[in-house]
Amino acid sequence: MACAFWLANDGRQVTVVDRDPAGDKSSFGNAGAVAVPEVVPASQPRLVWRIPGWLLDPLGPLALRPSHLPGMIPWLLRFLRAGRTEEVARIAALLSALNRRAQDDMLALLTSLDLQGDLHRKGALAVYETDVGFERDADEWALRQRHGIRCEVIDGDAARELEPSLGALVRRAVIMPQWSHVSDPKRVVDRLREFLLQRGVAFVASEALAIEAGEQPAVRLADGTRLAGASMVVAAGAWSGWLAASLHDRVLLESERGYNMTFAAPGIDVHRPLVFAERKFVATPLAIGLRIGGAAEFAGLAAPANYERAHSLVQSARRYLPGLPAEGGMPWMGQRPSTPDSLPVIGRSPRHKRVFYAFGHGHLGLTQSSTTGRLLAELVADRDPPLDLSPFSIERFG
Ligand SMILES: Cc1cc2nc3c(=O)[nH]c(=O)nc-3n(C[C@H](O)[C@H](O)[C@H](O)COP(=O)(O)OP(=O)(O)OC[C@H]3O[C@@H](n4cnc5c(N)ncnc54)[C@H](O)[C@@H]3O)c2cc1C
Repeated sequence: MACAFWLANDGRQVTVVDRDPAGDKSSFGNAGAVAVPEVVPASQPRLVWRIPGWLLDPLGPLALRPSHLPGMIPWLLRFLRAGRTEEVARIAALLSALNRRAQDDMLALLTSLDLQGDLHRKGALAVYETDVGFERDADEWALRQRHGIRCEVIDGDAARELEPSLGALVRRAVIMPQWSHVSDPKRVVDRLREFLLQRGVAFVASEALAIEAGEQPAVRLADGTRLAGASMVVAAGAWSGWLAASLHDRVLLESERGYNMTFAAPGIDVHRPLVFAERKFVATPLAIGLRIGGAAEFAGLAAPANYERAHSLVQSARRYLPGLPAEGGMPWMGQRPSTPDSLPVIGRSPRHKRVFYAFGHGHLGLTQSSTTGRLLAELVADRDPPLDLSPFSIERFG
Protein backbone atom coordinates (compact mmCIF):
# COMPACT_ATOMS: atom_id res chain seq x y z
CA MET A 1 0.00 0.00 0.00
CA ALA A 2 2.89 2.34 0.77
CA CYS A 3 4.44 1.41 -2.58
CA ALA A 4 1.12 2.22 -4.28
CA PHE A 5 1.08 5.55 -2.45
CA TRP A 6 4.54 6.65 -3.61
CA LEU A 7 4.06 5.31 -7.15
CA ALA A 8 0.75 7.19 -7.49
CA ASN A 9 2.45 10.23 -6.00
CA ASP A 10 4.98 9.96 -8.82
CA GLY A 11 2.18 10.21 -11.37
CA ARG A 12 1.87 6.52 -12.21
CA GLN A 13 -1.36 4.71 -12.89
CA VAL A 14 -1.45 2.00 -10.21
CA THR A 15 -3.52 -1.14 -9.72
CA VAL A 16 -3.30 -2.99 -6.40
CA VAL A 17 -4.06 -6.71 -6.51
CA ASP A 18 -4.96 -8.07 -3.09
CA ARG A 19 -7.12 -11.11 -2.42
CA ASP A 20 -8.40 -9.31 0.68
CA PRO A 21 -7.83 -5.56 0.32
CA ALA A 22 -9.48 -4.65 3.63
CA GLY A 23 -7.93 -7.68 5.29
CA ASP A 24 -6.47 -8.56 8.63
CA LYS A 25 -2.83 -9.25 7.83
CA SER A 26 0.25 -7.93 9.66
CA SER A 27 -0.21 -4.32 8.59
CA PHE A 28 -3.66 -4.30 10.24
CA GLY A 29 -2.78 -5.57 13.69
CA ASN A 30 0.87 -4.90 14.45
CA ALA A 31 2.12 -3.13 17.57
CA GLY A 32 2.12 0.30 15.90
CA ALA A 33 5.76 1.16 16.56
CA VAL A 34 7.86 3.27 14.24
CA ALA A 35 10.85 1.65 15.85
CA VAL A 36 13.74 3.71 14.48
CA PRO A 37 16.19 2.46 17.20
CA GLU A 38 15.68 -1.19 16.16
CA VAL A 39 18.77 -1.57 13.99
CA VAL A 40 20.09 -4.75 15.61
CA PRO A 41 19.35 -7.92 13.58
CA ALA A 42 17.48 -10.85 15.17
CA SER A 43 20.48 -13.16 14.77
CA GLN A 44 23.20 -12.52 17.32
CA PRO A 45 26.60 -14.06 18.08
CA ARG A 46 25.57 -15.83 21.30
CA LEU A 47 21.86 -16.20 20.58
CA VAL A 48 22.14 -19.87 19.67
CA TRP A 49 22.77 -20.80 23.34
CA ARG A 50 19.53 -19.10 24.44
CA ILE A 51 17.29 -20.81 21.87
CA PRO A 52 16.85 -24.20 23.68
CA GLY A 53 15.73 -22.42 26.87
CA TRP A 54 13.24 -20.28 24.97
CA LEU A 55 11.85 -23.30 23.11
CA LEU A 56 11.35 -25.21 26.37
CA ASP A 57 9.62 -22.28 28.09
CA PRO A 58 5.85 -22.31 27.31
CA LEU A 59 5.80 -18.56 28.04
CA GLY A 60 9.00 -18.02 26.09
CA PRO A 61 9.35 -15.73 23.10
CA LEU A 62 10.10 -18.49 20.55
CA ALA A 63 8.14 -21.51 19.30
CA LEU A 64 8.80 -23.87 16.41
CA ARG A 65 6.41 -26.55 15.19
CA PRO A 66 8.57 -29.69 14.76
CA SER A 67 6.85 -30.65 11.49
CA HIS A 68 7.95 -27.29 10.05
CA LEU A 69 11.63 -27.70 10.98
CA PRO A 70 12.96 -29.72 8.00
CA GLY A 71 11.76 -27.17 5.42
CA MET A 72 13.26 -24.35 7.45
CA ILE A 73 16.82 -25.64 7.56
CA PRO A 74 18.23 -23.42 4.75
CA TRP A 75 16.65 -20.38 6.42
CA LEU A 76 18.09 -21.39 9.82
CA LEU A 77 21.58 -21.91 8.43
CA ARG A 78 21.49 -18.47 6.85
CA PHE A 79 20.11 -17.06 10.12
CA LEU A 80 23.12 -18.45 12.01
CA ARG A 81 25.46 -16.96 9.43
CA ALA A 82 23.80 -13.55 9.90
CA GLY A 83 24.72 -13.74 13.60
CA ARG A 84 28.49 -13.52 13.06
CA THR A 85 29.94 -10.39 14.62
CA GLU A 86 30.99 -8.81 11.30
CA GLU A 87 27.63 -9.63 9.70
CA VAL A 88 25.74 -8.10 12.63
CA ALA A 89 27.74 -4.89 12.17
CA ARG A 90 27.06 -4.83 8.41
CA ILE A 91 23.33 -5.50 8.82
CA ALA A 92 22.98 -2.89 11.59
CA ALA A 93 24.51 -0.25 9.30
CA LEU A 94 22.01 -1.12 6.55
CA LEU A 95 19.00 -1.16 8.88
CA SER A 96 20.17 2.12 10.33
CA ALA A 97 20.35 3.67 6.84
CA LEU A 98 16.72 2.69 6.24
CA ASN A 99 15.43 3.57 9.69
CA ARG A 100 17.08 6.98 9.63
CA ARG A 101 14.62 7.97 6.90
CA ALA A 102 11.62 6.18 8.46
CA GLN A 103 10.24 8.91 10.69
CA ASP A 104 10.24 11.64 8.00
CA ASP A 105 8.88 9.32 5.33
CA MET A 106 6.13 8.09 7.65
CA LEU A 107 5.20 11.64 8.57
CA ALA A 108 5.02 12.60 4.88
CA LEU A 109 2.64 9.70 4.21
CA LEU A 110 0.52 10.37 7.30
CA THR A 111 0.32 14.09 6.49
CA SER A 112 -1.10 13.28 3.04
CA LEU A 113 -3.74 11.17 4.80
CA ASP A 114 -4.41 14.01 7.27
CA LEU A 115 -3.23 11.65 10.02
CA GLN A 116 -0.13 13.58 11.10
CA GLY A 117 -1.61 13.80 14.61
CA ASP A 118 -1.60 9.98 14.74
CA LEU A 119 2.20 9.82 15.00
CA HIS A 120 3.19 10.07 18.67
CA ARG A 121 6.81 10.92 19.36
CA LYS A 122 6.89 9.85 22.98
CA GLY A 123 9.90 7.56 22.76
CA ALA A 124 9.89 4.12 24.38
CA LEU A 125 11.18 2.53 27.55
CA ALA A 126 13.00 -0.81 27.38
CA VAL A 127 12.76 -2.51 30.78
CA TYR A 128 14.84 -5.25 32.43
CA GLU A 129 14.07 -7.41 35.43
CA THR A 130 17.65 -8.64 35.95
CA ASP A 131 21.09 -7.03 35.84
CA VAL A 132 22.32 -10.12 34.00
CA GLY A 133 19.77 -9.52 31.23
CA PHE A 134 20.77 -5.89 30.96
CA GLU A 135 24.48 -6.71 30.81
CA ARG A 136 23.88 -9.44 28.23
CA ASP A 137 22.40 -6.77 25.92
CA ALA A 138 25.31 -4.34 26.46
CA ASP A 139 26.74 -5.02 22.97
CA GLU A 140 23.36 -4.34 21.36
CA TRP A 141 23.02 -1.00 23.13
CA ALA A 142 26.57 -0.06 22.15
CA LEU A 143 25.82 -0.97 18.53
CA ARG A 144 22.69 1.20 18.53
CA GLN A 145 24.67 4.10 19.96
CA ARG A 146 27.31 3.72 17.25
CA HIS A 147 24.49 4.35 14.78
CA GLY A 148 23.32 7.53 16.45
CA ILE A 149 20.55 5.97 18.54
CA ARG A 150 20.12 7.91 21.75
CA CYS A 151 19.76 5.76 24.88
CA GLU A 152 19.58 6.81 28.53
CA VAL A 153 19.96 4.14 31.22
CA ILE A 154 17.88 4.62 34.36
CA ASP A 155 17.15 2.48 37.41
CA GLY A 156 13.87 0.78 38.32
CA ASP A 157 12.62 3.62 40.54
CA ALA A 158 13.18 6.19 37.82
CA ALA A 159 11.36 3.89 35.38
CA ARG A 160 8.40 3.67 37.80
CA GLU A 161 8.35 7.46 38.08
CA LEU A 162 7.90 7.66 34.32
CA GLU A 163 5.51 4.71 34.18
CA PRO A 164 3.82 4.18 37.57
CA SER A 165 2.05 1.02 36.33
CA LEU A 166 5.39 -0.84 36.23
CA GLY A 167 5.84 -3.23 39.15
CA ALA A 168 8.71 -3.72 41.59
CA LEU A 169 10.20 -6.36 39.30
CA VAL A 170 11.77 -3.75 37.02
CA ARG A 171 15.42 -3.10 37.98
CA ARG A 172 16.76 -1.19 35.01
CA ALA A 173 15.40 0.61 31.98
CA VAL A 174 16.63 2.40 28.89
CA ILE A 175 14.87 5.45 27.47
CA MET A 176 14.83 5.53 23.64
CA PRO A 177 13.57 8.97 22.57
CA GLN A 178 13.68 8.25 18.81
CA TRP A 179 10.98 5.58 18.97
CA SER A 180 7.48 6.75 17.97
CA HIS A 181 4.16 5.03 17.46
CA VAL A 182 0.90 5.45 15.57
CA SER A 183 -2.56 5.68 17.14
CA ASP A 184 -3.78 2.54 15.37
CA PRO A 185 -2.11 0.70 12.49
CA LYS A 186 -5.51 -0.39 11.13
CA ARG A 187 -6.60 3.23 10.89
CA VAL A 188 -3.47 3.98 8.84
CA VAL A 189 -4.08 1.18 6.29
CA ASP A 190 -7.82 1.91 6.11
CA ARG A 191 -7.23 5.61 5.50
CA LEU A 192 -4.45 4.83 3.02
CA ARG A 193 -6.76 2.54 1.03
CA GLU A 194 -9.51 5.23 0.94
CA PHE A 195 -6.97 7.86 -0.10
CA LEU A 196 -5.62 5.67 -2.91
CA LEU A 197 -9.14 4.93 -4.18
CA GLN A 198 -9.90 8.66 -4.25
CA ARG A 199 -6.68 9.25 -6.19
CA GLY A 200 -7.73 6.80 -8.87
CA VAL A 201 -5.72 3.76 -7.77
CA ALA A 202 -7.65 0.64 -8.81
CA PHE A 203 -8.08 -2.31 -6.45
CA VAL A 204 -8.56 -5.83 -7.78
CA ALA A 205 -9.76 -8.24 -5.09
CA SER A 206 -8.28 -11.45 -6.42
CA GLU A 207 -5.50 -13.88 -5.61
CA ALA A 208 -2.32 -13.58 -7.64
CA LEU A 209 -1.26 -17.09 -8.66
CA ALA A 210 1.93 -16.45 -10.63
CA ILE A 211 4.01 -13.84 -12.37
CA GLU A 212 4.37 -14.26 -16.11
CA ALA A 213 7.41 -12.82 -17.79
CA GLY A 214 6.91 -11.18 -21.14
CA GLU A 215 7.84 -7.86 -22.60
CA GLN A 216 5.43 -6.47 -20.04
CA PRO A 217 5.24 -8.39 -16.77
CA ALA A 218 1.83 -9.87 -16.02
CA VAL A 219 0.16 -11.57 -13.12
CA ARG A 220 -2.17 -14.55 -13.48
CA LEU A 221 -5.17 -14.21 -11.18
CA ALA A 222 -7.34 -16.83 -9.50
CA ASP A 223 -10.41 -15.64 -11.42
CA GLY A 224 -8.71 -16.74 -14.63
CA THR A 225 -7.78 -13.27 -15.85
CA ARG A 226 -4.33 -11.92 -16.57
CA LEU A 227 -3.25 -8.43 -15.64
CA ALA A 228 -0.27 -6.84 -17.37
CA GLY A 229 1.49 -3.58 -16.63
CA ALA A 230 4.56 -1.58 -17.57
CA SER A 231 6.06 -2.56 -14.19
CA MET A 232 5.08 -4.89 -11.39
CA VAL A 233 5.84 -4.69 -7.67
CA VAL A 234 5.60 -7.83 -5.53
CA ALA A 235 4.72 -6.69 -2.02
CA ALA A 236 2.66 -9.58 -0.67
CA GLY A 237 4.22 -9.85 2.78
CA ALA A 238 4.96 -13.40 3.95
CA TRP A 239 3.35 -14.79 0.77
CA SER A 240 5.83 -13.05 -1.54
CA GLY A 241 8.31 -15.94 -1.65
CA TRP A 242 6.32 -18.24 -3.85
CA LEU A 243 5.28 -15.38 -6.18
CA ALA A 244 8.99 -14.61 -6.65
CA ALA A 245 9.59 -18.34 -7.16
CA SER A 246 7.09 -18.31 -10.05
CA LEU A 247 9.63 -16.08 -11.79
CA HIS A 248 12.48 -18.40 -10.64
CA ASP A 249 13.80 -15.80 -8.17
CA ARG A 250 14.91 -17.57 -5.01
CA VAL A 251 14.44 -16.05 -1.57
CA LEU A 252 14.63 -17.35 1.99
CA LEU A 253 11.44 -16.04 3.57
CA GLU A 254 9.60 -17.44 6.58
CA SER A 255 6.32 -16.53 8.14
CA GLU A 256 7.36 -15.48 11.65
CA ARG A 257 4.03 -15.53 13.36
CA GLY A 258 3.46 -12.99 16.09
CA TYR A 259 0.59 -12.56 18.53
CA ASN A 260 -1.15 -9.62 20.15
CA MET A 261 -3.69 -9.08 22.86
CA THR A 262 -5.44 -5.71 22.82
CA PHE A 263 -7.21 -4.46 25.95
CA ALA A 264 -9.80 -1.80 25.13
CA ALA A 265 -10.08 -1.09 28.88
CA PRO A 266 -6.74 -2.15 30.45
CA GLY A 267 -7.44 -0.45 33.79
CA ILE A 268 -3.87 0.91 33.92
CA ASP A 269 -2.14 3.89 32.35
CA VAL A 270 0.83 3.35 30.06
CA HIS A 271 2.17 6.58 28.63
CA ARG A 272 4.68 5.37 26.07
CA PRO A 273 5.56 2.03 24.40
CA LEU A 274 7.29 -0.42 26.72
CA VAL A 275 9.78 -3.00 25.45
CA PHE A 276 10.23 -6.03 27.71
CA ALA A 277 13.75 -6.67 26.51
CA GLU A 278 14.46 -10.01 28.20
CA ARG A 279 11.22 -11.59 26.98
CA LYS A 280 11.06 -9.89 23.58
CA PHE A 281 7.60 -8.38 23.59
CA VAL A 282 6.13 -4.90 23.76
CA ALA A 283 3.16 -2.97 25.11
CA THR A 284 1.90 -0.03 23.04
CA PRO A 285 -0.73 2.45 24.22
CA LEU A 286 -2.89 2.76 21.08
CA ALA A 287 -6.01 4.89 20.66
CA ILE A 288 -8.01 1.64 20.71
CA GLY A 289 -6.45 0.32 23.93
CA LEU A 290 -3.28 -1.22 25.27
CA ARG A 291 -1.76 -3.74 22.84
CA ILE A 292 0.59 -6.41 24.21
CA GLY A 293 2.41 -7.92 21.26
CA GLY A 294 5.33 -10.15 20.41
CA ALA A 295 6.36 -13.83 20.16
CA ALA A 296 8.02 -15.56 17.25
CA GLU A 297 6.38 -18.78 16.11
CA PHE A 298 7.63 -20.67 13.07
CA ALA A 299 4.87 -22.94 11.82
CA GLY A 300 4.42 -22.01 8.17
CA LEU A 301 1.74 -19.99 6.42
CA ALA A 302 -1.08 -22.50 6.66
CA ALA A 303 -1.04 -23.72 10.28
CA PRO A 304 -3.93 -22.49 12.44
CA ALA A 305 -3.20 -19.83 15.03
CA ASN A 306 -2.42 -20.94 18.57
CA TYR A 307 -4.00 -18.15 20.61
CA GLU A 308 -2.58 -19.67 23.78
CA ARG A 309 0.53 -17.72 22.82
CA ALA A 310 -1.42 -14.44 23.04
CA HIS A 311 -2.61 -15.46 26.51
CA SER A 312 0.99 -16.34 27.44
CA LEU A 313 2.06 -12.84 26.47
CA VAL A 314 -0.53 -11.44 28.86
CA GLN A 315 0.76 -13.67 31.66
CA SER A 316 4.28 -12.40 31.03
CA ALA A 317 3.07 -8.79 30.83
CA ARG A 318 1.25 -9.10 34.18
CA ARG A 319 4.59 -9.80 35.86
CA TYR A 320 5.76 -6.32 34.80
CA LEU A 321 2.37 -4.56 34.86
CA PRO A 322 0.61 -6.09 37.91
CA GLY A 323 -2.59 -4.05 37.35
CA LEU A 324 -3.17 -5.51 33.88
CA PRO A 325 -6.26 -7.77 33.86
CA ALA A 326 -5.80 -11.45 32.98
CA GLU A 327 -8.93 -11.54 30.81
CA GLY A 328 -10.84 -9.23 28.52
CA GLY A 329 -8.28 -8.76 25.74
CA MET A 330 -8.80 -9.37 22.03
CA PRO A 331 -6.27 -11.85 20.59
CA TRP A 332 -4.79 -11.63 17.09
CA MET A 333 -2.12 -13.40 15.08
CA GLY A 334 -0.14 -11.97 12.16
CA GLN A 335 2.50 -13.35 9.81
CA ARG A 336 5.68 -11.31 9.74
CA PRO A 337 7.53 -11.74 6.45
CA SER A 338 10.99 -12.58 7.82
CA THR A 339 14.30 -13.02 6.07
CA PRO A 340 17.16 -14.74 7.93
CA ASP A 341 19.35 -11.61 7.80
CA SER A 342 16.60 -9.25 9.09
CA LEU A 343 16.96 -7.15 5.92
CA PRO A 344 13.99 -6.53 3.64
CA VAL A 345 14.06 -7.36 -0.05
CA ILE A 346 13.88 -4.08 -1.95
CA GLY A 347 14.94 -3.99 -5.57
CA ARG A 348 14.64 -5.21 -9.11
CA SER A 349 14.27 -8.84 -10.13
CA PRO A 350 17.40 -10.17 -11.86
CA ARG A 351 15.03 -12.17 -14.14
CA HIS A 352 12.89 -9.30 -15.37
CA LYS A 353 13.94 -5.69 -15.34
CA ARG A 354 10.35 -4.42 -14.84
CA VAL A 355 9.54 -6.63 -11.84
CA PHE A 356 10.38 -5.15 -8.43
CA TYR A 357 10.32 -6.59 -4.94
CA ALA A 358 9.29 -4.90 -1.68
CA PHE A 359 8.77 -7.44 1.09
CA GLY A 360 10.52 -9.25 3.93
CA HIS A 361 10.41 -6.45 6.51
CA GLY A 362 10.01 -8.85 9.46
CA HIS A 363 9.54 -6.94 12.70
CA LEU A 364 9.89 -3.54 11.01
CA GLY A 365 7.27 -3.55 8.26
CA LEU A 366 5.33 -0.57 9.57
CA THR A 367 8.51 1.35 10.44
CA GLN A 368 10.05 0.92 6.99
CA SER A 369 6.85 0.94 4.91
CA SER A 370 6.85 4.52 3.67
CA THR A 371 10.62 4.55 3.15
CA THR A 372 10.39 1.35 1.12
CA GLY A 373 7.61 2.80 -1.03
CA ARG A 374 9.58 5.97 -1.59
CA LEU A 375 12.78 4.15 -2.57
CA LEU A 376 10.87 1.78 -4.79
CA ALA A 377 9.18 4.61 -6.69
CA GLU A 378 12.69 5.88 -7.54
CA LEU A 379 13.70 2.48 -8.90
CA VAL A 380 10.51 2.10 -10.96
CA ALA A 381 11.17 5.55 -12.46
CA ASP A 382 14.74 4.45 -13.33
CA ARG A 383 16.10 7.20 -11.09
CA ASP A 384 18.99 6.56 -8.71
CA PRO A 385 17.58 6.06 -5.20
CA PRO A 386 19.24 8.15 -2.47
CA LEU A 387 20.47 4.92 -0.86
CA ASP A 388 22.49 2.07 -2.38
CA LEU A 389 19.88 -0.70 -2.55
CA SER A 390 22.19 -3.47 -3.80
CA PRO A 391 22.53 -5.10 -0.31
CA PHE A 392 18.73 -5.44 -0.20
CA SER A 393 18.53 -7.23 -3.55
CA ILE A 394 16.87 -10.64 -3.84
CA GLU A 395 20.09 -11.74 -5.55
CA ARG A 396 21.70 -12.23 -2.14
CA PHE A 397 19.72 -15.49 -1.94
CA GLY A 398 20.62 -16.66 -5.44
C1 LIG B 1 2.54 -9.24 16.42
C2 LIG B 1 3.21 -8.33 15.45
C3 LIG B 1 3.63 -7.07 15.88
C4 LIG B 1 4.30 -6.23 14.99
N1 LIG B 1 4.66 -4.98 15.42
C5 LIG B 1 5.29 -4.13 14.57
C6 LIG B 1 5.61 -2.81 14.98
O1 LIG B 1 5.29 -2.39 16.09
N2 LIG B 1 6.29 -2.02 14.11
C7 LIG B 1 6.65 -2.44 12.85
O2 LIG B 1 7.30 -1.69 12.13
N3 LIG B 1 6.30 -3.69 12.41
C8 LIG B 1 5.63 -4.53 13.25
N4 LIG B 1 5.28 -5.79 12.83
C9 LIG B 1 5.67 -6.21 11.49
C10 LIG B 1 4.77 -5.62 10.40
O3 LIG B 1 3.43 -5.70 10.80
C11 LIG B 1 4.98 -6.37 9.09
O4 LIG B 1 6.35 -6.42 8.76
C12 LIG B 1 4.24 -5.66 7.97
O5 LIG B 1 2.90 -5.42 8.32
C13 LIG B 1 4.32 -6.45 6.68
O6 LIG B 1 3.60 -5.71 5.73
P1 LIG B 1 3.37 -6.29 4.29
O7 LIG B 1 2.54 -5.30 3.57
O8 LIG B 1 4.68 -6.70 3.71
O9 LIG B 1 2.54 -7.64 4.54
P2 LIG B 1 1.02 -7.85 5.01
O10 LIG B 1 0.56 -6.77 5.91
O11 LIG B 1 0.95 -9.26 5.49
O12 LIG B 1 0.22 -7.71 3.68
C14 LIG B 1 0.35 -8.65 2.63
C15 LIG B 1 -0.86 -8.49 1.74
O13 LIG B 1 -0.67 -9.30 0.60
C16 LIG B 1 -1.89 -9.95 0.30
N5 LIG B 1 -1.55 -11.16 -0.44
C17 LIG B 1 -0.65 -12.12 -0.07
N6 LIG B 1 -0.53 -13.04 -1.04
C18 LIG B 1 -1.35 -12.66 -2.04
C19 LIG B 1 -1.66 -13.22 -3.31
N7 LIG B 1 -1.09 -14.33 -3.75
N8 LIG B 1 -2.57 -12.57 -4.09
C20 LIG B 1 -3.17 -11.43 -3.67
N9 LIG B 1 -2.90 -10.85 -2.47
C21 LIG B 1 -2.00 -11.47 -1.66
C22 LIG B 1 -2.55 -10.21 1.64
O14 LIG B 1 -3.94 -10.36 1.51
C23 LIG B 1 -2.15 -8.95 2.43
O15 LIG B 1 -3.12 -7.94 2.34
C24 LIG B 1 4.57 -6.64 13.67
C25 LIG B 1 4.11 -7.88 13.23
C26 LIG B 1 3.43 -8.72 14.10
C27 LIG B 1 2.92 -10.03 13.60
